[in-house]
Amino acid sequence: MKMLNEMFPSYNIQANVNLGDYTNTRVGGPADWCFWPKTQQELQQVVHFANETDLPITVLGNASNLVITDDGRQGVVIFLTDMHQIEVFKNSITAEAGAWIIEVAQVAYDYSLTGLEWAAGIPGSIGGAVFMNAGAYGGQIDQVLQSIDVITPVGEIKTYSAAELAFGYRHSLVQETGDVIIRATFTMQPGKRSEIGEKMADFNTRRAQKQPLEFPSCGSVFKRPTGYFAGKLIMDSGLQGYQIGGAQVSTKHAGFIVNRGQATGSDYVQLIKHVQDVVYEKFSVNLETEVRVLGRK
Ligand code: FAD
Repeated sequence: MKMLNEMFPSYNIQANVNLGDYTNTRVGGPADWCFWPKTQQELQQVVHFANETDLPITVLGNASNLVITDDGRQGVVIFLTDMHQIEVFKNSITAEAGAWIIEVAQVAYDYSLTGLEWAAGIPGSIGGAVFMNAGAYGGQIDQVLQSIDVITPVGEIKTYSAAELAFGYRHSLVQETGDVIIRATFTMQPGKRSEIGEKMADFNTRRAQKQPLEFPSCGSVFKRPTGYFAGKLIMDSGLQGYQIGGAQVSTKHAGFIVNRGQATGSDYVQLIKHVQDVVYEKFSVNLETEVRVLGRK
């Protein structure tokens, strides 16, 4: 059987790529293949080929909500970062899945459209943000999303309205379907440019004050358990600053695990488990991970 790069010689496909070079945590082993599609057609062809040949696919945006283990990932890892067009029509914005949500929030500001100010400091892509139903400071993707276009696992194009996406806290239907999000359309409201800008600046200042942005991380590691704050539980368990290898519970925000330089995927996985165990022992609360932990199996 032909190799992926022989099947699609003109596409940006590379073999045996170290994923730690691309993840926000800077940890992760090798992917068999990585593919950076430039167009929907390229993406569709490779998804179709992967389906026909049982080649596992993993779609990533900005890899800011992930821990990839040291054994890496089998099959083809598809990065959508080269598909990043953003278009504005009246009050709606359509962005390709690889567009940075920070950039989309900036475009909304440029056009005096309100609704995405909360996203001004989230270092993810539109695809990842929809997949995760990302949110901050009272805002969330499902409040502004109108629809998404996806490529289904068999390579067909399908449109979902926001109402069909079963959004919940850090949850969307796409987490179950295996669809690849290719673009999203947001319905915004006209606003006052200066007020939009002030809100964005305020959120970013608060972020910089509270979050350890000076170190690589994957953001908040754990979901907010009902009735608690994950960071407070971790702090009250005496775990702030606790370190395994190069992975450390942040001394600035206990909900973050930062890479202090030489962390491995295994350091992250062990530290996540340790935090879950200690918090459960002390408070009988199960901390569920918000970050996706991906490995070869
Ligand atoms: P990735 O990490 O690349 O992927 C995450 C998941 O989405 C994976 O399972 C992946 O397979 C899937 N996925 C990605 N793209 C697609 C696609 N096109 N189609 C189908 N599936 C896809 N999150 C918040 O919600 N609020 C915050 O305030 C916040 N602050 C953060 C601060 C920092 C410093 C960091 C590092 C992270 C923060 N995050 C936050 C987490 C993260 O940035 C968001 O979850 C973001 O939306 C993830 O986007 P991504 O492109 O990086 O996704």
